[in-house]
Amino acid sequence: MTLDLSVNDLTHVVEADRAHVWHHLSQHKGYETADPRVFVEGKGMRLWDATGKEYLDGVSGGVWTVNVGYGRESIANAVRDQLIKLNYYAGAAGTVPGALFAQRLIEKMPGLTRVYYSNSGSEANEKVYKMVRQISHHKHGGKKWKILYRDRDYHGTTIGTLATSGQPQRAAQYGPYPDGFVAVPHCLEYRAQWDVENYGQRAADAIEEVILREGPDTVGAIVLEPVTAGGGVIVPPEGYWQRVQEICRKYDILLHIDEVVCGLGRTGTWFGYQQYGIEPDFVTMAKGVASGYAAISCTVTSERVFEMFKDSPEDTMSYFRDISTFGGCTAGPVAALENMRIIEEENLLENTIAMGDRLMDNLTTLMDKHAVIGDVRGKGLFCGAELVQDRATKEPMDEKRVQAVVADCMAQGVIIGATNRSLAGLNNTLCLSPALIASADDIDNITNAIDRALTKVFA
Ligand code: PMP
Repeated sequence: MTLDLSVNDLTHVVEADRAHVWHHLSQHKGYETADPRVFVEGKGMRLWDATGKEYLDGVSGGVWTVNVGYGRESIANAVRDQLIKLNYYAGAAGTVPGALFAQRLIEKMPGLTRVYYSNSGSEANEKVYKMVRQISHHKHGGKKWKILYRDRDYHGTTIGTLATSGQPQRAAQYGPYPDGFVAVPHCLEYRAQWDVENYGQRAADAIEEVILREGPDTVGAIVLEPVTAGGGVIVPPEGYWQRVQEICRKYDILLHIDEVVCGLGRTGTWFGYQQYGIEPDFVTMAKGVASGYAAISCTVTSERVFEMFKDSPEDTMSYFRDISTFGGCTAGPVAALENMRIIEEENLLENTIAMGDRLMDNLTTLMDKHAVIGDVRGKGLFCGAELVQDRATKEPMDEKRVQAVVADCMAQGVIIGATNRSLAGLNNTLCLSPALIASADDIDNITNAIDRALTKVFA
């Protein structure tokens, strides 16, 4: 007997889901009157649910993950073959796909040399926080233990990473949090906090002010998203990154770039930071690494960081005393190898730039027609449209009406996202992140659905 997942009666599946699955980020009260949505199949940019309804996916699996699109047989076949050969060994030893993917990844990341495997974006970020704390104990006599994070950024769902949540509604109910995580201001020029010409420089100077207030010898690292994702698709202004890098060098602060969303092509380069000439000490990634075909995350470091953990072998506390059981699964790196090969073979970085420009152009055109769009911003296939009550005052659109736009698109069969229950009073940005394979027609179909939804909701 083998497992058979072909189900004739999908209503049974929906009932099983309603009865037993606790959905992420969901208020289940709603399912007493409406069916949970259960997806059954995906191909390319399209999905089908248990009712047979077809969707065009404008957010790559809901949370900017399925970069190469659904239904990739070559990934499934590579994973299958590897699982039969060797599915697992704990990460204290190596495996063939683990070694080969690390090598391929490092080729794309000049200046960095080491890959530490785990399973989720949160976990990859936690690894950095632990490394920074260990460097503090081992190298700085307990100093340089604080980690800075930025308002509106997000780094994960564990208690440690929630301690660096710049999104208050996500973190509000799960405290108290550990000490030593300190916020710096966000850099969204549309909601400017300073009235200056060189906004990027000013927003980065605000980081220096926090460092000086806390004491430079207490601050070990700063974690930043290259382009803030769930916090409203915030593209840092000109001059920001250059100044951030200067500040990190000046105060000997390790720079951790969270590429969990931007990594593997989302912004049109392999990594978002590569568009800004940054030289990070740590880069973390997860979602697009294997496009959701297997769970994998990576914490990538410079040789300088790595060396700090092996310079005194006689000290039994000097190595990184950490493990991630499923960081030893081979499905992750083998899926990641094939995912990377597809991005190269199909020229998906070039497509991301071309289709990203089209998406931005379409959204900008929609601004002429819909006064509720206050701002559009983006990089590659990663765009946001911020909705406001009034363009002059920039008063944010209320969350219910923003969600009504998302729901109307869904009813039309087009999936889009929005900043949702994470930023008190500012859950007003529509978010788009189609797969890197999107065609011009896909982009137009997504923005046409938004056009119709805005017309309907704000008639
Ligand atoms: N960092 C960023 C920038 C993210 O957007 C996310 C997930 N949305 C995470 C980290 C956490 O990733 P995971 O859900 O895989 O733990």
